[in-house]
Amino acid sequence: MTDSAVLPTTFQALRVFKDAQGTVQAERQTLPVADLPQGEVTVQVTHSSLNYKDGMAVAGRPGILRRYPMTPGIDFAGTVLQDESGTYSPGETVIVTGWGVGERHDGGYATLARVPARWIVRAPEGTDAFWAMSVGTAGFTAMLAVMALEDQGLKAGEVLVTGAAGGVGSTAVALLARAGYEVTASTGRLEEADYLTGLGARHIIGREEMPALKRPMEGERWSGVVDTVGGATLAGAYASTRTHGSVAVCGLAGGAELNTTVYPMILRGVNLLGIDSVTCPTERRESAWARLAHELPAATLAPMTQERGLSELPALAQEILAGRVRGRTVIDVT
Ligand code: NDP
Repeated sequence: MTDSAVLPTTFQALRVFKDAQGTVQAERQTLPVADLPQGEVTVQVTHSSLNYKDGMAVAGRPGILRRYPMTPGIDFAGTVLQDESGTYSPGETVIVTGWGVGERHDGGYATLARVPARWIVRAPEGTDAFWAMSVGTAGFTAMLAVMALEDQGLKAGEVLVTGAAGGVGSTAVALLARAGYEVTASTGRLEEADYLTGLGARHIIGREEMPALKRPMEGERWSGVVDTVGGATLAGAYASTRTHGSVAVCGLAGGAELNTTVYPMILRGVNLLGIDSVTCPTERRESAWARLAHELPAATLAPMTQERGLSELPALAQEILAGRVRGRTVIDVT
């Protein structure tokens, strides 16, 4: 049942809006609780995170926010204050990623958020909101990618991770290394080689050293690929994937186009697997988060995680868009 007495009357949010000149701006604002969107569950947000999409939203790049004003932040974790559906008890720690949060529905860069109950996942036992956002959408996506590769038969061998020093890439390297694969990390930042080796990468390839695509099919190398870059990088990785291997296609940090042929699919049985964390069904989400709790404990995440405040987001947005953010950035919204 609704009990508005438990809710504060106002909350803080990073709002992105268009000014009188039509320029997109981001500003910390105090809003009345009545401004929260529709949904059964009101959450006291303690942590959100910085993802590539958040960088685009906060920097005012088109294509992410579907209306203005809007609170960005595509993921958050915190404590349930009230739940009109009766599914969650006040005080439970919960996680929200995807479903259009921070794109078409006000997101996690705020001290309060309100969402439908079906968008929520309970934090696995023994974890907390900081851990959940150290993983965040990026780590959750990496887990979905690894699960997709394994569903298609990946058991052993050399696995390539592109955009390896980024959020999805770093968590994919750590997850794959822990699962016993021989991880090759492709990065444009060779100065991060020690960092990537520390996460478990066996080999490091510079972005420029990635085998160039000269023929529709190149020599077979990768048993599996987690690609966050897209474009020519993806085309090259796909052409070098071993017979019956798979490529988990996660991102477009280097480009959205894909110029290739069907030959690796029809002559080697290579699979291109689409990964979409936003619409991932609830049961799969719960399995992924349970596995993350087991395989990416806080101690494993610590070397790839930094914590920053809400007011630092405009500067951080520029950094992530320039490819200069390493690993994961947790946003303390309190
Ligand atoms: P990050 O910015 O943290 O990581 C992206 C990495 O890509 C960078 O660190 C860099 O890695 C590499 N990169 C950046 N620019 C270029 C370029 N021009 N050419 C080649 N490589 C480049 O972002 P995230 O990890 O949050 O997201 C990665 C991608 O995955 C994004 O495109 C994002 O939209 C997508 N994504 C998709 C999801 C889904 O559900 N499918 C969910 C989450 C993210 P390095 O420095 O090692 O070269």
